[in-house]
Amino acid sequence: MDIEWMKLTAAEVQARAAADALVIVPVASLEQHGPHLATGVDMVLGGNVALETARRLAAQGHEVIVTPVVWTGLAEHHMAFGGTVTLDSATFQAVLRGVVRSAARHGFRRVMLLNGHGGNAEAIGTAATDLAAEFGIRVAGGTYWHMVPEVIAPLLERQPTLMHACEAETSLMMHLAPGSVRPERLAEAVGPSSSRVEGQPPGLLMRRSFRSFSETGVVGDARTATPAKGEKLLAAIAARCAELLANPKLWT
Ligand SMILES: [Zn+2]
Repeated sequence: MDIEWMKLTAAEVQARAAADALVIVPVASLEQHGPHLATGVDMVLGGNVALETARRLAAQGHEVIVTPVVWTGLAEHHMAFGGTVTLDSATFQAVLRGVVRSAARHGFRRVMLLNGHGGNAEAIGTAATDLAAEFGIRVAGGTYWHMVPEVIAPLLERQPTLMHACEAETSLMMHLAPGSVRPERLAEAVGPSSSRVEGQPPGLLMRRSFRSFSETGVVGDARTATPAKGEKLLAAIAARCAELLANPKLWT
């Protein structure tokens, strides 16, 4: 049986709800990804991480269903480059609420908001907390590279983690959507190694326009990206995400 909500009939979706399937909602964004990648990166990567994770869960006998990707997110910090669509926070929360409320009304009791865009990270946590309380169901949220940093780091040569339009995202795109990569621009695809200013720890939240610290719109170094690295990253990320989501303690 298919794991994609949009490929099932309404009755088939309802049967999944009756079986207490986990609903994975991939959440993304449409925004600039440097000179060498198309704007849809987060949809491609977020959507495929969700599907690959769900395929592994299903293969292990878990009930799971994946909604289409929520394609609009919070990308104000990329607007200066053009090619970007952003919602405001209240609207973004309302979109997530509408999706989760629909799932809850149909009887689903467990939802994972699987985020693929850095700018959504804090808002996803807020949504998970608020929607679980409002609908009386379990709602978890997380950004995939924040959830599984230990499997990403060993596969990268020039970065400690996934950044933006970087070694990791570019490798994954080369593997999943090579038509959205411009190899002739790869030499330019390098930027600072962090979006924070010197002296700003990860826990001190303050976003600024990517334009102010990255000429290319890239954070990290995409020049050593390869499709083989992308294939390995996807497999490692999905396997670890599946392992985390299969944990029964998470849902009790
Ligand atoms: Zn993004």
